[in-house]
Amino acid sequence: MPRPIQATIHIQSLRHNLAQARLRAPDAKVWAVVKANAYGHGIEHVFDGLRGADGFALLDFAEAKRVRDLGWRGPILMLEGAFELRDLELCSRLDLWHTVHSEAQIDMLAAHKTNVPQRVFLKMNSGMNRLGFAPSQMRAAWTRLNALPQVDEISLMTHFSDADGPRGVATQMALFAQATDDLPGERSLANSAATLRHPDSVAASDWVRPGIAIYGSAPDYPEHDAAHWGLQPTMTLAAKIIAVQALSTGATVGYGSNFVADAPMRIGVVACGYADGYPRICPSGTPVLVNGVRTRTVGRVSMDMLTVDLGPVPDADVGSEVTLWGRATNGAWLTIDEVAALAGTVGYELMCALAARVPVVVA
Ligand SMILES: *Cc1c(COP(=O)(O)O)cnc(C)c1O
Repeated sequence: MPRPIQATIHIQSLRHNLAQARLRAPDAKVWAVVKANAYGHGIEHVFDGLRGADGFALLDFAEAKRVRDLGWRGPILMLEGAFELRDLELCSRLDLWHTVHSEAQIDMLAAHKTNVPQRVFLKMNSGMNRLGFAPSQMRAAWTRLNALPQVDEISLMTHFSDADGPRGVATQMALFAQATDDLPGERSLANSAATLRHPDSVAASDWVRPGIAIYGSAPDYPEHDAAHWGLQPTMTLAAKIIAVQALSTGATVGYGSNFVADAPMRIGVVACGYADGYPRICPSGTPVLVNGVRTRTVGRVSMDMLTVDLGPVPDADVGSEVTLWGRATNGAWLTIDEVAALAGTVGYELMCALAARVPVVVA
């Protein structure tokens, strides 16, 4: 028998979340961001749920090839553009649109031999200070690109550092507007947090670029949760109880004995550990669903197992369903954001870290 652990990707919830993004941006086209293997979900697993998007955005050329191999003929945007000259040949062969964020990338384009001009997204650094041209360099970069026979349409983009928090997007939006006001072309500004929280940035976008919201995680948790934004979890990580222990008062659980029973209790041993992508750092008390009933982990997470308090679920036994995040069979939810917060991180990281050894099914 295979080890009783499984991830489920929920196609209807992907569709639902994409529709939520469209509701927030009714006049914009939507890039479904599927970088990092669709945030750990698997590009092939999400494709059917997200094919209603206007395009797919990612940054790994092998992943772009996988999207084309699925039969997608629409736009694909490479969010970091070309890393070397050869990548531009792939852009030509696979018809990929690509970001241009540096002079070196313009040099590559100038050296690229193609009869078919390429669609590019010229990126401005409006304060994130990762990729992009400074506002003062935008016009010169645009003029240089516009003069190249290798370049077709030029669009303009920037990326927000604080769309999820109190700093917001106003300063970056103003810088972008000022530096690009007399340049033609489509604009792309908003990620998930901006799409949900900053309608002004959506209004300034011909294309929005939601990622995490499509996967049902709130970009601004804990200020808001997924339900607040009308989002549904798209990944469930579930396992089963493979053993039950009866603890007497004073007994301890797991490595380091850092959980001590203060009264007699039943615990379940679950076939999920940090080698499956469940964070080892999650403390005793991290929420988990057993048969869809909320309870808590006890003791340290080990490589292949973790342990849960069966107090609230007296009928649970070997074989009972344990939902680490996502949706239980009875319909109850545990958001990935809640677990991530207790691990000191964000839902993005947990999704992306789902281990290769966990079998994935699409439902
Ligand atoms: C990852 C990424 C996004 C999507 O961000 P979310 O926070 O997941 O919505 C949008 N734009 C760029 C450039 C990105 O790299």
